[in-house]
Amino acid sequence: MIFEFSEKTRDYLARIEAFMEELVYPNEKTFYEQVASGEDRWSTPPIMEELKVEARARGLWNLFLPDSEYGAGLTNLEYAPLCEVMGRSLIAPEIFNCNAPDTGNMEVLVRYGSEEQKERWLRPLLDGEIRSAFCMTEPDVASSDATNIQASIERSSAGDEYVVNGRKWWSTGAGNRRCKISIFMGKTDPEGNLPRHEQQSMILVPLDTPGVKIERTLSVFGYDEAPHGHAEISFTDVRVPAENILWDEGKGFAIAQGRLGPGRIHHCMRQIGVAERALELMCERVKNREAFGKPLAEQGVIMEWIADSRMEIEQARLLTLKAAHMMDTVGNKEARSEIAQIKVVAPNATLRVLDRAIQAFGGAGVSADTPLAAFWAESRILRLADGPDEVHRAAVARLELKKEPRVGAAQNRNQ
Ligand SMILES: Cc1cc2nc3c(=O)[nH]c(=O)nc-3n(C[C@H](O)[C@H](O)[C@H](O)COP(=O)(O)OP(=O)(O)OC[C@H]3O[C@@H](n4cnc5c(N)ncnc54)[C@H](O)[C@@H]3O)c2cc1C
Repeated sequence: MIFEFSEKTRDYLARIEAFMEELVYPNEKTFYEQVASGEDRWSTPPIMEELKVEARARGLWNLFLPDSEYGAGLTNLEYAPLCEVMGRSLIAPEIFNCNAPDTGNMEVLVRYGSEEQKERWLRPLLDGEIRSAFCMTEPDVASSDATNIQASIERSSAGDEYVVNGRKWWSTGAGNRRCKISIFMGKTDPEGNLPRHEQQSMILVPLDTPGVKIERTLSVFGYDEAPHGHAEISFTDVRVPAENILWDEGKGFAIAQGRLGPGRIHHCMRQIGVAERALELMCERVKNREAFGKPLAEQGVIMEWIADSRMEIEQARLLTLKAAHMMDTVGNKEARSEIAQIKVVAPNATLRVLDRAIQAFGGAGVSADTPLAAFWAESRILRLADGPDEVHRAAVARLELKKEPRVGAAQNRNQ
């Protein structure tokens, strides 16, 4: 594995880092102030639109898309360090049009959308004009097993429409006024005539269709995450044209698997950026603060926190790069163990670094005066979202158990 960055990556990296220094970090406070003071907390604040225009003008746009017809055409390995830098600020990914869940939804449309679906929904998403939601999780069933979902997508008797019913929650982004389209997962074979993984389908449901109701937005540890939010949505006899089905009936599970691979690794890349920023903040703080007669940085325990954080970040980054390299070279299916591994490793490593940084900051660490508390909430989510740790661990273990032992190693020494 060669982890030296390509010239293209180095060029993008330098430009993104410069953009972050010049325009992102100095505007984080403005962003949150505008959200808090605006007339409507669920509208995107003006500073975001200004920064999006600037990022696009500088060619720092849609970098996540490996497809060069629609995006920058970067491999996962080339995108990894760029995504990491974007992860250093909670507001940055949207500025570069590289934010979840829109990235995953755009990838679904690129891969599985018809020409009409691309024209109607992908184009404005690529332009950052609208936002989208992914509606899979349901309040009433254990959704970490997606075969449990109960929502229905039923063909109308005339055959020209589908009728959608169900209740979804944790639909990230659906609180935003510009969120216009959802990718909805439901059952097209409720009787279970088909195999377990072919009973579900995905369909495009515009959020202004009659019968769609945003019931509420949920908070995460008290953060409502305006202006995006995580919504609970009811769908009652929602009628959409039959052409809105994605790929084909019965392909919901296959699409979900295709969507979640890249989405998961992007989260991990951003997590490493979070951890790097937390470590930087911690180091600056402990160098400049004294207790009991010497700088905190000279307390042995704090030096241990710093060293452990550096080591854990390096380990998580190397595994993320390995997973990205495998996705590029042998494909997402072959890389599924590495993707599952990193989905456990990166958020957990980041949470440990954040916890140390918060502790080193003392009371300030849990306040809103540093980004640490909001980062912690975001990272904690990722031990659940896109699959809980336990499900990924089970996948890693299953793949490990399937391996054939090497002949010599399989024999007991004493036999
Ligand atoms: C902030 C946030 C944003 C989200 N965004 C989205 C979104 O945009 N769209 C969307 O559709 N969903 C989204 N989700 C939902 C998320 O993907 C689910 O919460 C997750 O898949 C778990 O499903 P569940 O909540 O139904 O938990 P359950 O399935 O009820 O599982 C509960 C717990 O059981 C344990 N468990 C489950 N399976 C196993 C196993 N095999 N072995 C051992 N233990 C197990 C785990 O500890 C798990 O946390 C989001 C969630 C959060 C918190």
